[in-house]
Amino acid sequence: MITIQGKGVSSGIAMGPIVFLSRKSDKVERRAIEDPEKEIERFFAARDVAAKELDALALEMVSKIGQENALLFEIHRMMLEDTDYVDPILEIIRGELVNAEYAVNTAGSRLAQDFADMDDDYMKARSVDVYDVSKRVIGHLSGDEGDDLKDRKEPYVLAADDFTPSETAQLDRSKVLALVSRLGAANSHTAIFARTMGIPAIISFGAFLSEDFSGKNVILDGDTGVLYVEPEKAETEKLLEKGEKAKVEKERLEKFRGKPTRTKDGRVVKLYANIGNVEDAKAALAWDAEGIGLFRSEFLYLGRDNYPDEETQFESYKKVLEKMGGREVIIRTLDIGADKRVDYFRLPEEENPAMGMRAIRICLTRPDLFKTQLRAIYRASVHGKALVMFPMITSVSELVSAKELARAAREELAAKGVPHDDKVPLGIMIETPAAAIISDLLAKEADFFSIGTNDLTQYTLAMDRQNDGISNFLDIHHEAIMRLIKMTCENAKKAGIMCGICGSLGADPALTKTFAEIGIDELSVEPSVILKLRALLSEI
Ligand code: PEP
Ligand code: MG
Repeated sequence: MITIQGKGVSSGIAMGPIVFLSRKSDKVERRAIEDPEKEIERFFAARDVAAKELDALALEMVSKIGQENALLFEIHRMMLEDTDYVDPILEIIRGELVNAEYAVNTAGSRLAQDFADMDDDYMKARSVDVYDVSKRVIGHLSGDEGDDLKDRKEPYVLAADDFTPSETAQLDRSKVLALVSRLGAANSHTAIFARTMGIPAIISFGAFLSEDFSGKNVILDGDTGVLYVEPEKAETEKLLEKGEKAKVEKERLEKFRGKPTRTKDGRVVKLYANIGNVEDAKAALAWDAEGIGLFRSEFLYLGRDNYPDEETQFESYKKVLEKMGGREVIIRTLDIGADKRVDYFRLPEEENPAMGMRAIRICLTRPDLFKTQLRAIYRASVHGKALVMFPMITSVSELVSAKELARAAREELAAKGVPHDDKVPLGIMIETPAAAIISDLLAKEADFFSIGTNDLTQYTLAMDRQNDGISNFLDIHHEAIMRLIKMTCENAKKAGIMCGICGSLGADPALTKTFAEIGIDELSVEPSVILKLRALLSEI
């Protein structure tokens, strides 16, 4: 038995022979041609067939991967007609007197590389779409869109370097048991489609996923990301049993989709999702989130080499708000610092950054930076139901100053006649012991609370959340934390404001009953646990 480890992106157990995808359209030859205009005609004819095919796919895929996901094929169609895509192809055919297949492959690879080199994660992910579109056109040009799998009768585990979104969406589900790849990204469309269709998938095996395994029997676990080649009997029995249990549980949870979240005695707890970008909002909807309880906006600032401007931020907030279609979206303002370091912020070198210049402290020190973000949020607020949440608050005066800057941002927009909702609720995270202890005072100034149990735990217990070495001392249900949560919730109730939890403890099934009992109004969690919590609450 050989065991290899990848990154599980779609859960489930699958067992069967492994087959490597061999695409005929990957092998593109360069041929000299004499009549470029005739070759261009061939290209347009193939492109038009591909465009028609994409129109049909956009419709057909709605039932398979959902309306939201099926939109991707409309984007692919638009790409085919975009001059940025078409012109370089024509230039290569005319300039180099080469066949259309080669021109599409070359121009497509260059454009895909340009996307891959971009800073923005969303744009980066478009690289695979360009590749996907080109592959489709090349398939039509060469009159051979197929792979070698059509004639296979028995189900199999499909392997490749990577899969395009089209390949994933069009998989023959009666035959493909699971997907495994050497490359890939957890938030790629391929991973999202696999999750939506319930096909187990593991990516990022690198070279460990060897062609030598071809035809061998494998069993894999999409949760842990482990693939066993020629597994031993004990391993197989254990995983098959796990798979059977998970299947039964999944069917049970599906019954809670679209249902309100309510305890037996009628108490309503809103189940929201934590997200970091626009793609996550799609996952939140796919898992039936009732809103977004924590949009970690600092992710817009990470992985870049300069500040995102107001327009860039506005676009992201707008997209999330629109996607959530009127459901509440709590946007947490910038929480940079501590473990989230960004070079261009030029933060001071600190002995103890978790207790240093971070989050609201940076925002209050750099009002222009903060107001840029606030203006972007206010502008986006007319596109849905936005709420703003300030992180790392420790005093009433910090909250008052933050609200003051929010007012200034609103006034700047009003002076220019820019539409915005000036009633956007302004709430705070309760994630420092100080905030929990003075939550009675903060409740007079805040429109809502959301308890950040990750930081609340680290600061209350004086235990660095990053430090694995002290995990033996960590009691995540420590009475001190439970009392602070209860006290915060009671103070919120007295003031008549909402109190949620957006730290990891919110997803802890051992505490769900307690949270419902003390009157927590909202739990914001990783999207994939929403149905599980809804089922649990319905039994309380
Ligand atoms: C928290 O501290 O609990 C929280 C939700 O914020 P983050 O994990 O982003 O620090
Ligand atoms: Mg925090």
